[in-house]
Amino acid sequence: MKTSIELKDVTTGYKNKPVTDNINAYLLAGELTCLLGPNGAGKSTLLKTLSAFIPPLSGEIILEGKNLKNITARILARSIAVVLTNRPSTMNMTVEELVAVGRSPYTSFFGALHAADKEVVDKSISLVGIDDLRHRNVNTLSDGERQKALIAKALAQQTQIIFLDEPTAFLDYPSKVEIMKLLYKIAKDEGKTIFMSTHDLELALQIADKIWLLDKTHGLHIGIPEDLAFRGLLGDYFERGGLRFNYSTGQFEIEHDKKGVVRLKGSGRLHDMVKKALKRIGYDSSPDAEGFVIEIRNEQDGHEYIECDGSALPSIESLVAKLRRQENL
Ligand code: ADP
Repeated sequence: MKTSIELKDVTTGYKNKPVTDNINAYLLAGELTCLLGPNGAGKSTLLKTLSAFIPPLSGEIILEGKNLKNITARILARSIAVVLTNRPSTMNMTVEELVAVGRSPYTSFFGALHAADKEVVDKSISLVGIDDLRHRNVNTLSDGERQKALIAKALAQQTQIIFLDEPTAFLDYPSKVEIMKLLYKIAKDEGKTIFMSTHDLELALQIADKIWLLDKTHGLHIGIPEDLAFRGLLGDYFERGGLRFNYSTGQFEIEHDKKGVVRLKGSGRLHDMVKKALKRIGYDSSPDAEGFVIEIRNEQDGHEYIECDGSALPSIESLVAKLRRQENL
């Protein structure tokens, strides 16, 4: 895979105020890379440096063999598209007009679009799946729809690289998933280099090709999600009181106050949900534990039910209620 942009000993920051020291890293074409880290870690500063909004304090950023600082604004606009996530409340234009703005690095000062530009705009709108929104005013879109329109605008810019600053902020969970999947697909199908900052750790771990982990104490660590997890780095960065990384599921979990262990026998979906509910209220469960016995029974017609202390229970909720009553005795 081709390196699109490379950082050589880059220190980011502002006048006399280094933020991240000596970064050596690169981004590959065809990959979705997520930049994770707590607030104030330096994610925006890094994105601004990589997109040449601010210069690095030291080191070199190499874009297609050239130092970023020697690339003209017009050429840069044909190489890197930047999607920012401030809510643009005064964008009084249609989706189609917004996406057409992406063509500005290729059009004359007056911005007239040729047939080829219009074709790129159409293709970009179709790629993100918003054909039905093309005549809508951007101000009337939902946050998720507007994010798609901004991604289409970046695609219309026909750059190899797309940087996005927290594109999933403000979105509901299904829309976050949709945007992440869309970006992943664009990286794969179009061979783009996509680099985005996000706070959506769990989603990033499930979909990103690479993760860049950044914080003030540990600096920058880069790897595929599973390597970072295996090396204990995710725990180092994100474990806090009450939040633990589960190394077998590869996900973070809320740590509950432990109340005890119960004996849970059986298998299947009901068993798994019962186990989950028990965990949520503080009980570990195992088929060999001593004490309170819960069994998942299967009838011949496939019906599953919970048996506890010899009596059948109608729902998981009733089991939880029973355990809570027991605790209060
Ligand atoms: P993040 O995006 O991870 O939340 P930032 O890159 O915004 O972090 O900030 C990193 C550090 O740089 C913070 O300490 C912040 O106060 C500082 N910083 C951000 N912008 C400026 C600026 N324009 N001038 C000086 N310091 C800044």
